[in-house]
Amino acid sequence: MATKNHKYIFVIGGVMSGVGKGIASSSIGKVLQAKGFSMNLVKVDPYLNVDAGTMNPTEHGETFVLESGLECDQDMGNYERFLNRNLSNEDYITSGMVYQHVIEQERNLKYGGKCVEAIPHIRDEITRRIKKAAEHNGSTISVIEIGGTIGDYQNIMFIEAARVMKVENPDDVIFIMVSYLPIPSKVGEMKTKPTQNAVRSLNSYGVQPNMIMARSEVALDERRKEKIAISCNVRPEHVISAPDIESIYEVPLNFEKDKLSDMLLDLLKVKDGKQSADLAKWKAFVGNLKGLTDEVNIAIVGKYFDTGDFVLSDAYISVIEAIKFSSYESGVKPVIHWVNAKDFESGKKKLSELGDYDGIIVPGGFGETGIEGKVSVIQYARENKIPYFGLCYGMQLAVIEYGRNVLGMDGAHTREIEKDATVPVIDIMESQKKNIEEEKYGGTMRLGAYPAVLKEGTIAREAYLSAGALAKEDGESEISERHRHRYEVNPEYIKQFEDGGLVFSGTSPDGILMEIAELPKEKHPFFLGTQFHPEFHARPLDPHPLFTAFIKAAISGKK
Ligand code: GLN
Repeated sequence: MATKNHKYIFVIGGVMSGVGKGIASSSIGKVLQAKGFSMNLVKVDPYLNVDAGTMNPTEHGETFVLESGLECDQDMGNYERFLNRNLSNEDYITSGMVYQHVIEQERNLKYGGKCVEAIPHIRDEITRRIKKAAEHNGSTISVIEIGGTIGDYQNIMFIEAARVMKVENPDDVIFIMVSYLPIPSKVGEMKTKPTQNAVRSLNSYGVQPNMIMARSEVALDERRKEKIAISCNVRPEHVISAPDIESIYEVPLNFEKDKLSDMLLDLLKVKDGKQSADLAKWKAFVGNLKGLTDEVNIAIVGKYFDTGDFVLSDAYISVIEAIKFSSYESGVKPVIHWVNAKDFESGKKKLSELGDYDGIIVPGGFGETGIEGKVSVIQYARENKIPYFGLCYGMQLAVIEYGRNVLGMDGAHTREIEKDATVPVIDIMESQKKNIEEEKYGGTMRLGAYPAVLKEGTIAREAYLSAGALAKEDGESEISERHRHRYEVNPEYIKQFEDGGLVFSGTSPDGILMEIAELPKEKHPFFLGTQFHPEFHARPLDPHPLFTAFIKAAISGKK
């Protein structure tokens, strides 16, 4: 188990969701990491899904995939991007996992005939997992973000576990509440009452926050700081103003302006680590992104946008961030345009409108909605030499498009949509057939990191080489990328595609699975698709080579 004096910071949301608890947690991790502490970040999701893989992205945003293949919450992606390292299965906890484990134990008579109950068994299983994550990471300080908001029924058990951890080791556990201060337009004044009420609810669980992060449109004034401090039992300096800012990557820098890491260490009674945080590289990165004037216009053609009257870009968060990192590195400001694939099918949008964009991405997806729209977008990008980047489904659909429109394969399709396709150029992987027959959908796709071998002289290999991701001397050609799919390029059609000019520039080491498809540079400035998800590896300080190559192509083709 974790060492006796291991420190735990619990981050809990008050007032409402969606105000940046994940970014706050990531930034707390970042500033303490910058002080030289070994950190681990844990996301707790209170839902009963065992993992995030079975949820619709319009319900819950993007499903992020770890190296191991665990499908989890998008916040895990933020943690990886801020900490600049891979996370492990231990760092993600859902109610589903906890209950599944306890019920399995009960079925195996592991509780010695006792009555199995939420308290203590569920609570103790939560504590065991939190400590196991710390131990697995060999860290000194853990940040645990509890999903949901104070007052939810679903996360009570997690708050209760945290409370007991505090009772057991009062000096080693602190609580931070991330709150929101609305400024109702008719009132015109920042209101603290919802925050006061949220703290009271938290108090009723026996928990007193040590610090309140006050999210708002603008910075908090002294008067409101004092008001919150007095009414919520925290010191005024522990009420942290967290106004909206241009980029989420500025948050750790702003926190450090207020000496957040020193305050956290004081609260945790950590004596060492008082040197100032080393955020030089991070600062340089944030410095680069501010003040960029040249734009690159990228269209993301997808489908998971609609939630009622609102457009939700959460489903593609890693794709957006990957575009940003590569754009900043190239000295341009990305402008992302959300294009709904269905609009090309209904005639609401014309293909010629795509001419406005410098580059087009079709990201990952599942099912039938909008796919004919996407295929026509890909055809337009290919024929009009607009840089095209297909991610997973976006690669499969590019293969279908090339088959139909260049190789004359009428009826080229994916078996995901048309079970009896006459020309199934995309087919289910052999290893996946049984899962579908037995309706075993949860956590059964081809998931996580797998190697691929790159072909000499291709755009893909050149991209990895020039980003320094491959060693030049020994002619290294193997990469590793994260996956999430059940279908693949049908091996029966590979030769036909290759003879017809499509290049499979990356394959699995045994040559069976097609990992990257591209058109040679002479034919198109950038037409490339990956079976894997490169966006999951893109980091602020380490942009992804293929996104960078795509952005560079988009910039050089700018109108
Ligand atoms: N639906 C496709 C498959 O299962 C693509 C998945 C994806 O884009 N992540 O293979």
